[in-house]
Amino acid sequence: MSDLPSLRADLDALDRRLVDALAERQRLVREVATVKADDAGLPLQDADREQALLARIHQLAEDAGVDGYFASTLYRQILRHSVRFQAVRQRDEASGLRIAYQGDPGCYSHSAARRHFAAVDDTSYEGARTFRDAVAALKRGDADRAVLPVENTTAGPIAGVYDLLVEPGLHIVGEEVVRVEHCLLGVEGASLDGLKRVGSHPQAIAQCSEFLAGLDGVRVVAEDDTAGAARLVAETGDASRAAIAGEDAADLYGLAVLKRHIANRKDNFTRFLVVSTEALGHDTRLPHKTSLLLSTDHRQGALTRVLQVLAEAGLNLTKLESRPSQTTPFEFLFYLDVEGGTHEAHVQDALEAARAHARTLRVIGSYPVFEAEKPRAALAPSSGDGASVPARPKPTTGAKPSRRALADRAGRPDTVVEIAGVRIGGDEPPVLIAGPCSVESREQIFESARGVREAGGLMLRGGCFKPRTLPYDFQGLGFEGLTMMHEAGRAHGLPIVTEVLHPADVEAVAREADVLQIGARNMQNFELLKAVGKSHAAVLLKRGMSSSIDEWLAAAEYVLAGGNERVILCERGIRTFETATRNTLDLSAVVVARERTHLPVIVDPSHAAGARRWVPALCRAALAAGAHGLIVEAHPDPDHALSDGPQSVTFSTLDEIAAAMGLRQPVEA
Ligand code: PEP
Ligand code: MN
Repeated sequence: MSDLPSLRADLDALDRRLVDALAERQRLVREVATVKADDAGLPLQDADREQALLARIHQLAEDAGVDGYFASTLYRQILRHSVRFQAVRQRDEASGLRIAYQGDPGCYSHSAARRHFAAVDDTSYEGARTFRDAVAALKRGDADRAVLPVENTTAGPIAGVYDLLVEPGLHIVGEEVVRVEHCLLGVEGASLDGLKRVGSHPQAIAQCSEFLAGLDGVRVVAEDDTAGAARLVAETGDASRAAIAGEDAADLYGLAVLKRHIANRKDNFTRFLVVSTEALGHDTRLPHKTSLLLSTDHRQGALTRVLQVLAEAGLNLTKLESRPSQTTPFEFLFYLDVEGGTHEAHVQDALEAARAHARTLRVIGSYPVFEAEKPRAALAPSSGDGASVPARPKPTTGAKPSRRALADRAGRPDTVVEIAGVRIGGDEPPVLIAGPCSVESREQIFESARGVREAGGLMLRGGCFKPRTLPYDFQGLGFEGLTMMHEAGRAHGLPIVTEVLHPADVEAVAREADVLQIGARNMQNFELLKAVGKSHAAVLLKRGMSSSIDEWLAAAEYVLAGGNERVILCERGIRTFETATRNTLDLSAVVVARERTHLPVIVDPSHAAGARRWVPALCRAALAAGAHGLIVEAHPDPDHALSDGPQSVTFSTLDEIAAAMGLRQPVEA
């Protein structure tokens, strides 16, 4: 057997070959781009070819004993990169571009700029002190493009940049969406215990407030920008100092990453705009977005009329920001993004029609959008398509609403709850959620996630905080387990559902979980219901084992009244005189609940049956009764599970359940 150092050397050599192969691929892509530029008939992004390629990669990987999903996901990234690479190269043919950004080298704007212009040869980057300075450099001709952040998924729009875009002579020529991953950086050898001072930009400090609150005796200091804070730590060489910044800053200033993933929310993205003083030509075969600047007369309904014209023309609005006019008090300018490019006739017609209702309407850019790594789907629930939807009464603090104003059907169409792209409820096809009762180890949860995804499941379940009848039973891995599950879910493209036991844990669990489960034993834990009612995460509300349907819907009302509209009900069996099964699966509750409420209703056959051999039949019965989905306990090795092994199915049984549901075995994604 080889020794560790020689194995490591082999791995290093292999990694080099992988990177060399990527570089070789990039060279070929460059040649392809040249051929395509000569032949306008060839699409830059060929969806069919891409699908075929991904399927081929999936198969090749599987044949080679590598997880096909892993390989095709990796390839999707590579393809995305290559489209962006070709498009930017076509737009910016010249080499030697000078790019202005705000901040010190190594800040997120610098990283975004480098990523965007990776396709252009000999690019140089110049950090400016302020956004205005970056734009001034562009206008003076000291820079060819500026890269400016416009919005962040946690902190919202960056008002100062919108105000700069108003200035005449600026054109948006592209955009770049970047995942922001804050790290705690210190000098080599520094440790969390020895820290006395942490510096960063106020935005980054705010985005990591929960982590910082856990550091005892550490002074938090606001500085001009993240990379500047990192540079300061490096310059002082002081091990009691740290900075919050991105990993690029660590590389640049020779700092060590003391801790990764320290932001309150794991998914944190910033959108940057690429700005130039001239409008640039783009490959019109790529999907486009158009940015508009609009002012309306100071009349009631003036904005509404413009928006109506755009809507009637079928233009989808992806952004609307209002900014106070810089010249006239109480007048507003609106910044709009619409899907489509100005080269498209329907966009031209819509803009022409909108102009008739606007005081001014200026196109500040029409540029390609690349299928970026997307921030998680919108958190808002979407309702069924009923045309005349009775308004959902808002919870009030003054006058008491009637009994179950929010949960009751009251003539409303079914609510479809959307969780990171997975839609549950209404006429959506039934959704399979599966996974182990408890998260037990990294290997176990990754293997489970893979099994769930391969069966065609759309969400991963797993308990990290377990409500156990006996205090000596396995209580779950807690937050450590939750992080493993979050990573397993992300690796396999599955949102995750996990139980939360305590109101104080809700916020922290919701940072990593997509859906918060309220267990049967907690269905009437009203403080917990109020706490999840305030959360941004969706809620899976299990029916209490001795609760009536009325009480169950009243519990849902608690969550809805707190402002959280994404509630999914789950029937999991109730206590009756029958002892042959662990609980009695009350499928009539599915039928009744679907009549009485607009909320989605799913079924957990596992906790009802208590024995795995009955689970498939109960799954079929639940779907026949009208369940919007199933949540099934499945384990890679059920006989050795740390909880609920007897009722957990194997992944081959899960495949059979999925097949009975008519779920396609996914080739990839
Ligand atoms: C579980 O889902 O593992 C669980 C404990 O469920 P219930 O609350 O329905 O017993
Ligand atoms: Mn269980």
